[in-house]
Amino acid sequence: MQYDVLIIGAGSAGLSAALTLGRCLRRVLVADGGPPRNEASPGVHGFLTRDGIRPAELLRLGHEQLRPYTSVEVQCFQVDTLVLEGNGFRATGHGSADDTPLAVTARRVLLATGVSDVLPALPGFRELWGRGVLHCPYCHAWEVRNQPLAVYGQGSTVTGLALLVSRWSRDIVVVTDGPGHLTANARRRLRREKISICEEAVVRLIGSDNRDLRYIEFANGELLERAALFLHAPQHQRSSLAADLGARLTSKGAVWVDSGLRTSIPRLYAAGDTKPGNQQALLAAADGTRAAIVINENLSREEYSR
Ligand SMILES: Cc1cc2nc3c(=O)[nH]c(=O)nc-3n(C[C@H](O)[C@H](O)[C@H](O)COP(=O)(O)OP(=O)(O)OC[C@H]3O[C@@H](n4cnc5c(N)ncnc54)[C@H](O)[C@@H]3O)c2cc1C
Repeated sequence: MQYDVLIIGAGSAGLSAALTLGRCLRRVLVADGGPPRNEASPGVHGFLTRDGIRPAELLRLGHEQLRPYTSVEVQCFQVDTLVLEGNGFRATGHGSADDTPLAVTARRVLLATGVSDVLPALPGFRELWGRGVLHCPYCHAWEVRNQPLAVYGQGSTVTGLALLVSRWSRDIVVVTDGPGHLTANARRRLRREKISICEEAVVRLIGSDNRDLRYIEFANGELLERAALFLHAPQHQRSSLAADLGARLTSKGAVWVDSGLRTSIPRLYAAGDTKPGNQQALLAAADGTRAAIVINENLSREEYSR
């Protein structure tokens, strides 16, 4: 096998795992397939010592701090297939900047491939994503605290998110974009917190040049002025590598792992957003470290038992 560990994905989870494995003198390849999930965001918030850092700068520092660890290589490498081979894996793909075919073998693989967010197919959502359209109050609500906010969605999902966001602003409108499918109890809970409900269909979001939200335009022609809109966007896995190998997925499509971040496929691990749990950059980095320790100890056990 060429490498002890192939790490697929060079976001917070992947780079953090590479750092710990480099410090263990492991031969590691980090396959860097391109931008992270939060590429569109101006700042990563809540990351101890790096609060508000640009996403690209956080990763640049991550790459820079790998340099002393010469057993770690980082390659622009979009992994397309991952198959079992001998006591490890073979990964094939191509350079992420060009089409150069690439193939490597490794004793262990860590999937740190993240997720993508599926936004409503209406003008403005994609354009304002990460700035005027936000997914996570813990990441971004402080920046828009005490301002007029919208929370978009239907049913219990929008109710829970609106009640959560009401911690940061007392001026919230739930925008359901058509029938809200809200129970009488949900309506009562929202009303109690003075959160209003608008069930008119949305036509588009209108933003400013710097991608802040200004107005929500409805099918009846009305405009609602708001500083930001929160939503729980559905997500899908950035890569199908785990599913292609037959790894167990959760009902929500995340890669199932046990408490040691082991997937259901022997020698295959997963860390960061790709597995279930809260999704934050610092938590993904912590996962990467945890997975690296578990992998190093597993490799060591195999080596000592030869
Ligand atoms: C708009 C937005 C704003 C956010 N703001 C914050 C914030 O303020 N604070 C915070 O803590 N969190 C924030 N998050 C969440 C944060 O981005 C994620 O929790 C974090 O990026 C997860 O890290 P990760 O390493 O698991 O995945 P990612 O950072 O998404 O990295 C996964 C990497 O894997 C690569 N990859 C995927 N498939 C392949 C493949 N087949 N081959 C090679 N590489 C591949 C991708 O290109 C990507 O670089 C935000 C998310 C979004 C969407």
